[in-house]
Amino acid sequence: IVTARGVEKHFGDLQVLKGIDLTVRKGEVVVIVGASGSGKTTFIRCINHLERIQKGRIEVNGHLIGYRERNGQLVEDSERNIARQRCEIGMVFQLFNLFPHLTALENIIEAPIHVRKIPREEALRTGRALLARVGLAEKEDTYPTQLSGGQQQRVAIARALAMRPALMLFDEPTSALDPEMIGEVLDVMKELAREGMTMIVVSHEMGFAREVANRVIMMHGGRIIEDAPPEQFFTAPAHERTAAFLSRVI
Ligand code: ATP
Repeated sequence: IVTARGVEKHFGDLQVLKGIDLTVRKGEVVVIVGASGSGKTTFIRCINHLERIQKGRIEVNGHLIGYRERNGQLVEDSERNIARQRCEIGMVFQLFNLFPHLTALENIIEAPIHVRKIPREEALRTGRALLARVGLAEKEDTYPTQLSGGQQQRVAIARALAMRPALMLFDEPTSALDPEMIGEVLDVMKELAREGMTMIVVSHEMGFAREVANRVIMMHGGRIIEDAPPEQFFTAPAHERTAAFLSRVI
């Protein structure tokens, strides 16, 4: 469902991604780990074109992301097409990014109504079902400031799911949370994984990676240096940098 080929990304003179190749199949959960600055966040932001890439290509669900081909060259796609592509990709950020002036339920139905043009009644029904699914049925009229960090993040997950994405991207979804709230967010993500959602997750939660991931990927210096099932990744990593990283974080 996701194919990245030779993806390169620069910020000015700084090359952050140095040729990323990655294939993710439908229903797979891929957890990306790596030291700070290795390019994890930048890479997943490239997948929904929150960052432009300078080289290579990324396809999601058969659609080239952010660019289209013209006379054999890749040119930047229109805003409209990019917006359409993003509908297929749910993203959950480290800082929940909910709209502060909207209730939990209003946050969830916003995009389905305005972007997907779903009738309000239907969006409300789906929104309530999603809130129940993340364990927050009783919070539909609550504003984000009245919710705990863990609850806000669960609303953010429900909001992303409301667009019926084919792929969910998570960028360190628990790293801004107090420790006692991490579990409730990871539980929602585990449930999603069990239901077969395709997920790419940047996370420092090694327990989650071990338990839920189909593959764990180690990034270092803008490259993927290891891509293995968790059993192998955690017990017999092929790359010495992975072993060194694991000895620091576990
Ligand atoms: P962390 O775990 O700390 O989030 P990361 O592996 O996700 O790290 P990135 O956030 O992708 O790393 O950053 C990779 C490099 O790109 C860093 O050196 C960072 O300073 C740089 N970088 C990221 N975003 C920008 C930007 N908008 N402009 C300039 N440099 C950037």
